Amino acid sequence: MLSTMQDVPLNVSQILRHGSVIHAASRVITWTESGPRERTFAEVGARATRLAHGLRELGVRGDERVATLMWNNAEHLEAYLAVPSMGAVLHTLNLRLPADQLAYIVNHADDRVIVVDASLLSVLEPLLPAVPGVEHVVVVGGGELGSVRPAVHAYEDLIAGRPDDFDWPELDERTAAAMCYTSGTTGEPKGVVYSHRSVYLHAMQVNMARVLGSGPEDTTLPVVPMFHVNAWGVPHSSFLAGVNLLLPDRFAQPGPLAEMIATVRPTHAAGVPTVWQGLLTAGPGDLSSLRSLVIGGSACPPALIRAFDALGVRVNHAWGMTEMSPLGTVAEPPPGLPAEEEYDYRVTQGRLRVGVQARLVGPDGEILRWDGRSVGELEVRGPWIAAAYYGGTSAEPLRPADRFSPDGWLRTGDIGTITPDGYLTLTDRAKDVIKSGGEWISSMALENLLMDHPAIAEAAVVAVPDDKWGERPLAAVVVAEGAQVTFEELHRFLAERIPRWQLPERWTRIDAVPKTSVGKFDKKVLRRRYATDQLPVTRL
Ligand code: ADP
Repeated sequence: MLSTMQDVPLNVSQILRHGSVIHAASRVITWTESGPRERTFAEVGARATRLAHGLRELGVRGDERVATLMWNNAEHLEAYLAVPSMGAVLHTLNLRLPADQLAYIVNHADDRVIVVDASLLSVLEPLLPAVPGVEHVVVVGGGELGSVRPAVHAYEDLIAGRPDDFDWPELDERTAAAMCYTSGTTGEPKGVVYSHRSVYLHAMQVNMARVLGSGPEDTTLPVVPMFHVNAWGVPHSSFLAGVNLLLPDRFAQPGPLAEMIATVRPTHAAGVPTVWQGLLTAGPGDLSSLRSLVIGGSACPPALIRAFDALGVRVNHAWGMTEMSPLGTVAEPPPGLPAEEEYDYRVTQGRLRVGVQARLVGPDGEILRWDGRSVGELEVRGPWIAAAYYGGTSAEPLRPADRFSPDGWLRTGDIGTITPDGYLTLTDRAKDVIKSGGEWISSMALENLLMDHPAIAEAAVVAVPDDKWGERPLAAVVVAEGAQVTFEELHRFLAERIPRWQLPERWTRIDAVPKTSVGKFDKKVLRRRYATDQLPVTRL
């Protein structure tokens, strides 16, 4: 071997150590009923260390799973740091899933301990009889848990009086650090297991992207839940770089969000489009501290980018997925362009980040050109991208053929184009495409256009069966409060902007687009409602 470099494994414990020593004075601010509660990185680091000792005493060994059922708060961050650093695996549970799915996931991951916010005990309690492998429940905050099995501990008691240092094991960087299940829009939820190496490299990449805060001069508000895809890497990247964190706990509704932004004055924030749309509709208040708003997780309507532009807040559109840790792209335009030209880049899903390799695959498996026109399924490869799902063996990894190509690339299920300089534009998810007379109609493009109309608050477009064309688009629109508009008007509005054959002839008005557990448009619910005649459809 020619290299003369040290072989130091990348471990989450280094993030913990670095953040709490080098950035000791940076702060984690958790929003509570009575306003902000602060802890320094030094304190969070010390408490995480004590938590690791507490978990050892509960018998957590090796790569056993410690689950969290928690909001975004300082204690959740402590678990984020403590559990992987001691060699165990942090399993973040989606608190919005129905009880049967949660029980499935807890059992599937073989969780031994669950750390739970007292405010979520009512979610946990019905689950307990169905999860026999869970031996300990650790409750953050007050609250009584009726059950005697498993053993219940108060978080503060568990960590009290324990040492502030820990002989963190130097782990093989490929060992498991954390896991997260996809929300299971089709079939059973599937587990993605992040390694120490992937968490570390992804955190560095998130920091390098700058849009989520760079250093101690910044404060980032991740509204994206910490139970979903590492909250986009914000907790890890902030801790390693000393970026202050504002964590909204259970107060991620428009009113309290506006209040915490005005009070704590974060410089950066991140969340799915519906969160920011909700804030705008309810009245955003004082956003003057915000320099960057990262919007992703589902397509950010261009109208939303413009609305925040008008308020002086720059939106950075980003794309990723659970299987990708999640960061894949950020829509930063090339420098030096006039504002209107910049906009053409800012509405794309973004430019590929270093480390993320991508290719577009056509219907017959051919690799397509990055010419900004050829449309195909996006496949990706990289050091923070999953190679399989949890549950297989090394001899037989769980790599369903619809999610992994034979040569190991991840099939994203996202359809779109890539420009020669690496800007990705998605037109659809594979399961949402509309195939009309052999041609694809982009549901995302139609939705974005409809949401550009001032009278439209939300719009979702789904494929419905059609005798003549196979499938046609159905437009489901939510009219903004106080606004009035007819389907004919919307049809005309679209007709000025897209080819005739793409115009929806079926229209329906709904009160709200159904949302998934993480706030994304849930189009399968709309398709089901249509199929069961629960949508009153007008044909133009
Ligand atoms: P799920 O939504 O299935 O629970 P993920 O949270 O992993 O799982 O979602 C990943 C998917 O979300 C991507 O494959 C893509 O379809 C969609 N997505 C994420 N970001 C964007 C974006 N900026 N624009 C459009 N779609 C996006």
